[in-house]
Amino acid sequence: MSTDTRMGVRLAQLHLYVDIHRHDLFVAPILAVVVAGLISSWVPMAWAGIWLAIELVIIANYLWVYRQFKRVNPPPREERQWANRIARAHGAHMLAWSSLVIWAWQPGNFSSLIFVMLVHVGLISLTVSMSNAHLRLLVLDMIFPVLALVGPPLLEPGWFNIGLSLLGGGFALLMVLVGRQINSYTTEAIELRQRNEILIKELESQASRDSLTGVVNRRYFLEAAKRLLQQPRSESAPLALLIIDLDHFKTVNDRYGHLGGDEVLVAVVDACVAHLRTGDYFGRLGGEEFALLLPGNSLSEAKETAERLRQATEALSIPLQGDTVRPTISIGIALAKPDETNLSELMRRADLAMYAAKEQGRNRVVCAADVADSGEAKGEPAVVPI
Ligand code: GH3
Ligand code: MG
Ligand code: MG
Repeated sequence: MSTDTRMGVRLAQLHLYVDIHRHDLFVAPILAVVVAGLISSWVPMAWAGIWLAIELVIIANYLWVYRQFKRVNPPPREERQWANRIARAHGAHMLAWSSLVIWAWQPGNFSSLIFVMLVHVGLISLTVSMSNAHLRLLVLDMIFPVLALVGPPLLEPGWFNIGLSLLGGGFALLMVLVGRQINSYTTEAIELRQRNEILIKELESQASRDSLTGVVNRRYFLEAAKRLLQQPRSESAPLALLIIDLDHFKTVNDRYGHLGGDEVLVAVVDACVAHLRTGDYFGRLGGEEFALLLPGNSLSEAKETAERLRQATEALSIPLQGDTVRPTISIGIALAKPDETNLSELMRRADLAMYAAKEQGRNRVVCAADVADSGEAKGEPAVVPI
C-alpha cells in the first residue's frame, strides 16, 4: 500500500472516529450529571459540582474540535496533526473521568471502590465501541481508564483486591483485543471503498476519454455540447463550435503506416490542447476529426482561437522514419444563435465551413457566416449523426 493510500485510510478512520464520537453530544453530558449526582452522596457536593463543571467544559471543547475537523475537512497529510489535536481534547475527557479514583474513591470504603471500578468498566466498554475506528486514538483513550480500573485495588493489597485488579486487567485486555479486531475489519472495508472509488474514477475516465489522444470521446463531447446548447445564452456571451480536420491525413497513413499516423494525431491534439483556456471543451468526433466548443466566445474570439490552433499545428515538425512531417488542419467555425438548441444544425454549419476551408486550399479557418454570405457551400456535407 502506498504512503498516500495509507494516509487516506487513516484520515477515513479519523472521520469515522469523529462521526461516532459526535454522538457524545447526547450521552456524555447526561452521564456526567448522573455520576456527579451519585458521587455527591459520599463526597462533598462542591467537589462533584466542580468536577461536573470542568467535565462539561471539556465535552464542549472536544465537540468543538470535532466540528472544526469536519468543517476544515483536512487533506490526508494533515491526519496526524488532527489526530493529535483530537487525542488531546478527548484525552482530557478520559482524564476527567479517571480522576474519580483520586477524589471519589475512599480507600476502605468498598462500595466507593466498586462504584469507581464499575464506572471504569463502563468507560472502557464505551471507549472500545466508540474509538475502535482509529487504533492509535483507541490506545490513547484506554490508558487512563485502564490505570484507574486496575490501580486502586492494588493500593489495598489482599487476595480479593489482587483478584479484582486481575479481573479488571483481563477485562481491559479482552476489550483492547476486541477493539483491534473490529478495527481490522473496518480498515479492510475502508481500503476496499477507497480502491473502489479509484477504480470507478478510472472506469469513468476510460469511458469518457479517447484512448489514443486522451481528449473526451465523441459520446461525451456530444453530451456536453447538448447540455451547453440547452443553457440560456445572451448575445454578448454566445457559444462557438469549431470542427477541426487534419489535412491529407490519409497520405500520412499511407506513407508512414497507421502507427506513424497515430503519432501525428497525438502531436496535433497536444499542440491544440496546449492553446485552450479553462472552460473550452475539446473532443474527438472520430478519425482525424475533432470539435471544440468555446462557451462565451464571440465570433472574432473564436476566430482568434482557431487561428492559434492552426498556427500551432503548422509549426509542428514531427520526425517520422527519417522524415519530418508538418501537419496542417482546416477549421470550420459556427456560432450558435442565442435561442439555438439544435446541435445537429450547429454542427452542420460548422462542417460546411470546414469543407469550405478544404476547398479553399486547406490549412485555413473559415466561418459558417462567410460561407453562407458568399454562397460557396457546394453540396451538403454528411451531417455527423448525433
Ligand atoms: P482531407 O484533407 O480532405 O481531410 O484528407 P484526409 O486524407 O485527411 O481525409 P480522409 O477522410 O480521406 O482520410 C482520413 C484518414 O484518417 C483515413 C483514416 O485511415 C485515417 N484515420 C482515422 N482514424 C485514425 C486513427 O485513429 N489513426 C490513424 N493513424 N489514422 C486514422
Ligand atoms: Mg482529413
Ligand atoms: Mg476527416
